[in-house]
Amino acid sequence: MTWETVIGLEIHAELSTASKIFCACPTAFGGDPNTHVCPVCAGLPGALPKLNRAVPDLAVRLGLSLGCAIERHSRFDRKNYFYPDLPKAYQISQLYAPICSDGRLEINSGGTGKSIGIREIHIEEDAGKLVHDSAGGATLMDFNRCGVPLVEIVTQPDFRSGHEVIAFLEALREILLYLRVSDCKMQEGSLRADVNLSVRQPGGALGVRTEMKNLNSFRAIGRAIDAETARQISILDAGGRVAQETRRWDDDRGESYGMRSKENAQDYRYFPEPDLLPVDIDDAWLASVENNLPELASKKRARYVREYGLAAQEAAALTSHVNLSTLFEDIAGRSGEPSESAHLITGEIMRLLNQTNMQPEALSVDVDKLSALIGLVSGGRINRSAYKETVEAVFMSDVDPRAYIAEKGLMMQSDGAIIADAVRDTIGENPGAAAEYRAGKEKAFGYLMGQAMKRLGGSGDPEKVRDALLSALRDE
Ligand code: ADP
Ligand code: MG
Ligand code: ZN
Repeated sequence: MTWETVIGLEIHAELSTASKIFCACPTAFGGDPNTHVCPVCAGLPGALPKLNRAVPDLAVRLGLSLGCAIERHSRFDRKNYFYPDLPKAYQISQLYAPICSDGRLEINSGGTGKSIGIREIHIEEDAGKLVHDSAGGATLMDFNRCGVPLVEIVTQPDFRSGHEVIAFLEALREILLYLRVSDCKMQEGSLRADVNLSVRQPGGALGVRTEMKNLNSFRAIGRAIDAETARQISILDAGGRVAQETRRWDDDRGESYGMRSKENAQDYRYFPEPDLLPVDIDDAWLASVENNLPELASKKRARYVREYGLAAQEAAALTSHVNLSTLFEDIAGRSGEPSESAHLITGEIMRLLNQTNMQPEALSVDVDKLSALIGLVSGGRINRSAYKETVEAVFMSDVDPRAYIAEKGLMMQSDGAIIADAVRDTIGENPGAAAEYRAGKEKAFGYLMGQAMKRLGGSGDPEKVRDALLSALRDE
């Protein structure tokens, strides 16, 4: 029998706000356990939540970019359940009136375009973290993450393969990053996707689904989808029934196992949150979010080509990660030299990222220093090789470029007399190569040029050295 896979996603993204959703504690990742905690996020009796205004701002920003309808009167609801990482024994979420609904996102999977429906985006608070201390056999609780703001993005069951899911997550991540809604660090749990999956006869009624959790990378998601599809098909082919349940993916073992039978909304005894007012979004608020929407990658690509005259391929490389495009725009603005700045990013910076195995997320280089270097090379004060060397020193150890250039003697040598001396000595020491060149062997020129540059400590003005060498070889 042939089977069709049907998948819907529930994606949690931690919002890039400085403070938590209902208190002033910081959202920063890490920190000693239980140091980012106050009576509100620790759930002490009598403590009252107060909504961080930046949270609906970011949720609406995302909703607008995904073509959602914005709920002008959204409300919060209590989702009741006990778990040790949830000190209040309820999570503040949105069930009845989520802030955004009915959006879509176009994806491209293997050359085929497809539109994925977004059922809703709702706001909620994150839970804490349990640390299982295997040595002591104890479980420790860290509440630092309690109350970090989240959006949950729920899609329609529109996916038919793991490839479509990955294409969607990549497109969504790019939007979240460019909108500055979330930093999307999967290793830190800022972006988490749960996979709902069922199989059916093509075109038939939806089958019974399972929900898979604990998927920590795109790769794990792809593997989990393949394994779960195969598991359900083998149950159905053997005449069995798939149990509706929540399963936990174990990426090391490459298999999932059941955690609990799937609960329904009724099980959570949702009710309207009595401690918070509804969020009323008026025209002015909506307009202010709309007018301040950050530019998405596709718009940037078109603008780089139009405004700066960059090649489409270079514009695509610059927008391959939001940090690269930000660095490019900052340096281009500071140096006033967009095409030189573009070459710097797509050339040296990408090469150095590669060489040091660094992800663009971790990129941090001094914009002023790099802009100053661009000024020096395009003003003819240092040559290309000195420029590259100094860029690398700034990237690796944040050196002061002017001090570095002075210390290494990299300022361009364009003094005619000094260059002429170096050229004469070079020819004197390499009579063989000089004779070969004069006999018509072009290759010998490159060798002599290299020797003359070496004699000048690599800092000779290449044009001038070249001219001096040519005329000296002609004269003799
Ligand atoms: P719940 O309320 O249990 O979380 P929802 O109806 O909200 O369930 O759906 C959660 C996710 O599961 C959505 O992404 C939805 O697209 C997906 N989904 C629902 N039914 C199925 C199904 N039969 N097969 C695959 N995915 C499904
Ligand atoms: Mg749900
Ligand atoms: Zn707090």
